[in-house]
Amino acid sequence: MRATLMYGAGDVRVENVPDSVITLPTDAVVRITAACICGSDLWPFAEMPAGSGPARMGHEFIGVVEETGSAVTSVAKGDVVVAPWVFSDGTCEYCQEGLTTSCVHGGIWGYGPHEGAQAEAIRVPYADGTLVKLPVAADSALIPSLLTLSDVFGTGHHAAVRGGVTAGSSVTVIGDGAVGLLAVLAAKRLGAEQIVLMGRHQARTDLGREFGASAVVSARGPEGVEQVRELTGGQGTSVVIEAVGTRGAYDQAVGAVRNGGTISRVGVPQYEEAPVGLGSLFFRNVRLTGGAAPTRAYIEELMPAVLDGSIEPGKVFDVSTDLDGVADGYRQMADRKSLKVLVRP
Ligand SMILES: [Zn+2]
Repeated sequence: MRATLMYGAGDVRVENVPDSVITLPTDAVVRITAACICGSDLWPFAEMPAGSGPARMGHEFIGVVEETGSAVTSVAKGDVVVAPWVFSDGTCEYCQEGLTTSCVHGGIWGYGPHEGAQAEAIRVPYADGTLVKLPVAADSALIPSLLTLSDVFGTGHHAAVRGGVTAGSSVTVIGDGAVGLLAVLAAKRLGAEQIVLMGRHQARTDLGREFGASAVVSARGPEGVEQVRELTGGQGTSVVIEAVGTRGAYDQAVGAVRNGGTISRVGVPQYEEAPVGLGSLFFRNVRLTGGAAPTRAYIEELMPAVLDGSIEPGKVFDVSTDLDGVADGYRQMADRKSLKVLVRP
């Protein structure tokens, strides 16, 4: 079978690898029908040292179950399924409390021995805990939107939930990538009244307005913060969702949050040090939360609105390709020519 491998920064190849097989009774093998390239895949695409790979790539997928191990009971051959970006057993203490990213048996697709999703097939550990059966055909027009439950929409939703967004909330979303835009959609779905989107790429911020943003601020840094404050009576918003992951975006979040408010981070942080002291968070009673999104815990909750068409998170996909176009897809996303690339192996 064919799979996507990253050998180093800028070096993505699709090569033949051993076929996915059942190795434990709790496994399933899934033939992948839809996968995608994630904004977080762009960090290694920019920085991975040559010689440290190759790494199997891709952590979002929908596919058809080909085979199941003897202990698997919740899915069967022929089922169309979606998987979250982290696999999990569904039974441990963390899974039961919905923090599937901390599953004691869990892991991330493409890391260590685990197979990646930008491929023709994948071995799924803990199939019962990980996979969710979809009530649609593999060629349904809903597939792009359902695929966002794997990561980007679930992550945007997690940001809004951790930020405490409820009916009437005022929210700033920093970042016009797929996660930022879907955080706008998630905040709107949870009832946010005012949503300020910070982004400078107009095609993307236009989609953000369609998803529910009430204002767009294209300026960054202190100037961007000033504009958010002007839109909010000088005080900032009670929730700030940070969906970029840079230190600059964190500083913007601190600047845009209202005293007593919450900063919820879902951009993978590319920094270890940032202000948390007296002037930044402490005196102002600002709460800092967010983190890796346990999207498995949200799939059942978010799926009905996707199935009935009342929300269309799949609009973040603006390019579609087969496996042969994956390397080019990375380049297009890195050059910001594409927002998010759908891969149909
Ligand atoms: Zn678990």
